[in-house]
Amino acid sequence: MASGDGWIVRVRPHAGRLTRAQAAGIARLAAAHGQGTLELTRRANLQLRGVAQGSHPQLLAGLKALGLVDADAAAEQRRNIVVTPFGEPGDATLALACALASELARALAAPGAPALPAKFGFAVDCGAAPVLRATPAHVRIERDSQGLVVRADRVPLAARATPQDAVAIAMELAHWFARGDAAAPPPRFQPAPLPQRTGPRPQPGPVPGGWLVAAAFGQLQADTFARLAELGALRLTPWRMLLVEGVRSAPALPGLPGLLTDPADPLLRVVACSGAEGCRQAVGATRPLARALAGLVPAHGLLHVSGCSKGCAHAEPTVTLVATPAGYDLVRHGKASSRPDRHALRADELASHLACAWNTTTTTQDAPAHDATDTPPL
Ligand code: SF4
Repeated sequence: MASGDGWIVRVRPHAGRLTRAQAAGIARLAAAHGQGTLELTRRANLQLRGVAQGSHPQLLAGLKALGLVDADAAAEQRRNIVVTPFGEPGDATLALACALASELARALAAPGAPALPAKFGFAVDCGAAPVLRATPAHVRIERDSQGLVVRADRVPLAARATPQDAVAIAMELAHWFARGDAAAPPPRFQPAPLPQRTGPRPQPGPVPGGWLVAAAFGQLQADTFARLAELGALRLTPWRMLLVEGVRSAPALPGLPGLLTDPADPLLRVVACSGAEGCRQAVGATRPLARALAGLVPAHGLLHVSGCSKGCAHAEPTVTLVATPAGYDLVRHGKASSRPDRHALRADELASHLACAWNTTTTTQDAPAHDATDTPPL
C-alpha cells in the first residue's frame, strides 16, 4: 500500500507468532529496505513503513526466506485470524488455539473457500477466558464452561463445537456471511445472547506465557524489535503490545525509543494515526499533539487524535480531536467522523476543553486498539 512516506508492507505471521529468528530477520529487513520502523496493528499484524518501490522484490524475497509469505496471495488476504496471545508453552488450550488457527488458515486457502471481504476476520479466543472480545472479528471460536463455542459477531447466534469440528463450523458461518444477510443461517446455529464487546485492556507486565511490552502509537524501531527478539520469541497482540515469551521479570531495556514497559505511562492513554508525518490525506499533525496532551488524560481515559475524519487509528467512541484546515475539532464522546462538540480549536485551547470533556464523558481504555496508518483498519 502506498502512503505519504513510501510503501507500507504488511506481514501476517501465522497464529501471531514469530520465532526469535523470524523476528530478528524482520528487524534486519525493515532496516535494510524501509525506514527501520515497524508498526503493530490492531489485528496483530506487523507493518514495515517507508519501503521504496524498488526495494520491494528484495524485501519480499527476505520475508519468503523467513517463511512469512504465503504461496497464494489471495489466501493470505483471507487469512485474517487473531489468536489469543496468552498461555504458557505446553499449555493444552494454547496448543489448541494455535492448531485451530493453522487449520483455519488451511481451510481459507482450500479450493471453494468463501470470497470474503478484505476486512472479514476470525478470532481464535479459546484460552481459559476470552480476551479478544473488543478486537474486531466476524467469527469467534471461544470456550465456556461446556467447551468450545463458535459465535457470530454482532449477530446473536452461536453453535457448540469440539476441537475436531470447530473450524468446519466456523467456515459454515463464513460461507453464510459471504452469501449475504438474506440467506438463512446454518441450522446448527442457535440464538444466543451477544457477549459484551469490551473487557479490561491488558497492561505492560507479566502475563501467562511471558511479559507484555507496549509500543507508543504502535511503532517500534527495528533495533528495539531486534533487542526484544534476543529475549524470546514474540507473540503479536491486537493491543499495540508484544508478548515476549518466557520472560519472567521486567526486561532491562532502558532508553529504547517507543518501548513502554510502565503500566502508568501516559502514552498508553493516547492513540493517533500517522497524521501529517506519514499520510497524504492528513490535515494536521497528530502524534506530537497526542504526546503533548497525554499527561492530561486521566487514568481511566483514552484520547484519540486523528489527522482527518476517517479516524484510522481508533474506531470506537472516545474523546477525539480531529485535525481540520481551521484547527482541531473536539468530539467529547464519539468517533472521528462524529458531529463535533467544538470546532476549530487552537492547540493552546485544547487543554481546557479536554478537561471539560472528561468531566462530561465516561471513556474507558476498554475500547479496542486499531491500526495507526492511512490504510483501512485490518
Ligand atoms: S485518519 Fe487515516 S486517512 Fe486520516 S490522516 Fe489519519 S491515517 Fe490519514
